[in-house]
Amino acid sequence: MPLTTLATPEPGRRGFLMGTALGATAVLASLACSVQAAGSPTRRMPVIFIGHGSPMNAITDNGFTRRLAAWGRELPRPSAILSVSAHWLSRGATGVGIQERPKTIHDFGGFPQALFDVEYPAPGHPAFARETVGAVKQTPVIATDQWGLDHGTWTVLKHLYPKADIPVFQLSIDYDKPAAFHYAVGRDLAALREKGVLVMGSGNVVHNLRATDRGVPDGPSASRPWAQSFDDAVKSALAGRDDRALVDYAKLEGAATAVATPDHYYPFLYALGAAGSSERAKTVYEGFQSGTLSMRCLQFG
Ligand code: ZN
Repeated sequence: MPLTTLATPEPGRRGFLMGTALGATAVLASLACSVQAAGSPTRRMPVIFIGHGSPMNAITDNGFTRRLAAWGRELPRPSAILSVSAHWLSRGATGVGIQERPKTIHDFGGFPQALFDVEYPAPGHPAFARETVGAVKQTPVIATDQWGLDHGTWTVLKHLYPKADIPVFQLSIDYDKPAAFHYAVGRDLAALREKGVLVMGSGNVVHNLRATDRGVPDGPSASRPWAQSFDDAVKSALAGRDDRALVDYAKLEGAATAVATPDHYYPFLYALGAAGSSERAKTVYEGFQSGTLSMRCLQFG
């Protein structure tokens, strides 16, 4: 799991990288917030959450990827996409990508060359990235070019927006912070929706790679009771928009195994936070891959 430690703006705080997939050097851009609005006023964009599963979904034709393709045609066209991916974890700070041309990061191993050959050449959106610095009140956000588009982002966008012609930028997950923090940052991101930005969380509601059943075909139900119980509990809480229960997820049935580590759950909390509290959660896709990976996909608004 790549963890980056972003330099923070406060003097005396150290900043260095820890085992990023790129081995890149942190280059921190100005924290000055853009005074110019990026993009023209437009309709309020929905918020989406995608269960991304295996990177192989990028080059696989299945029910999940076909649904993503159809979804991309149903959604209003965004001015840009802000992705909060399970695969950009930082320590002690939150980063936002400001590249004009973010790299496609192949942050995995042991997959066919065809997957490493995939590029997702969408442009970035530095102006919206700087607006994000100003929009997030919960914590300082550091504009940086040290990351790019990781597989949590491009493996799903490849189906949603195959032309890669909509700008994309990522926000990191400060892995030192608790669930309530991530939900609160999501709340701050809601302001970007008014400007045509599609806020996207990409993770998995149930994700425990040590407890997948790789031979099990894709299907509507989990192969293990804990995975089904937790996914059901999330679905039930969503139906009543019981956000408190979803932030306090560790108390839900099956959580100890379903969310053994919270990296893939936190992107869901960003999406939930960015959704207005009265917005209904629409289930776009549900089902399981590898027995226990919940592919639950949601749209708010
Ligand atoms: Zn993942």
